[in-house]
Amino acid sequence: MIRNHPSCGGWIEVVCGPMFSGKSEELIRRLRRAEIAGQRVLIAKAQIDDRYDISHVVSHSGHRIRAVGVEDPASIERFSEGCDVVGIDEIQFFDPSVVETCVALADRGLRVIAAGLDTDFRAEPFGPMPELLARAEIVDKLQAVCHRCGGAATRTQRLVNGLPAPFSGDTIQVGALDAYEARCRGCFEPGEDVLRARDPHRVTAHS
Ligand SMILES: [Zn+2]
Repeated sequence: MIRNHPSCGGWIEVVCGPMFSGKSEELIRRLRRAEIAGQRVLIAKAQIDDRYDISHVVSHSGHRIRAVGVEDPASIERFSEGCDVVGIDEIQFFDPSVVETCVALADRGLRVIAAGLDTDFRAEPFGPMPELLARAEIVDKLQAVCHRCGGAATRTQRLVNGLPAPFSGDTIQVGALDAYEARCRGCFEPGEDVLRARDPHRVTAHS
């Protein structure tokens, strides 16, 4: 793919997709190349995500890069003083003001690379992502491999005790004992509460 970055000023690029689509890996790849070019790089991640290691962004394949854990978007702006490039992992976990933060950084001439889930386990747009995607110059939607059919997966399926999680469940359950799978549109299963709302007379083996 031929891609031209703006030749002056900053910009926002977003790497999104479902779980297991390689978002963190792609973020790390881009940030490493910037570091190799001698650019000053800040890597921030939402403090809520304690997966693997609090001070690193770690991909499922084990690639890692040191990162600052931040609790709010304002901290990203503070830490980015003197940087050329700011990478933000798991950006969907931040409150909506993170979009203004990204815009402010890009307006100041920084390259902002944000990675995160575009949709939650209900296949609904995740937190700040719709606005961020609209304001970004460059967007990459990565695909995973569907756990069911092996096709291109674009959704994150949450399973609780092996069954599709109810729509009414909490969006963020870090460290919970849920299982997640990447699924395609055809294999994605909505929760029992969604199916029952569609068909009140629905009878299942569990009811
Ligand atoms: Zn599938």
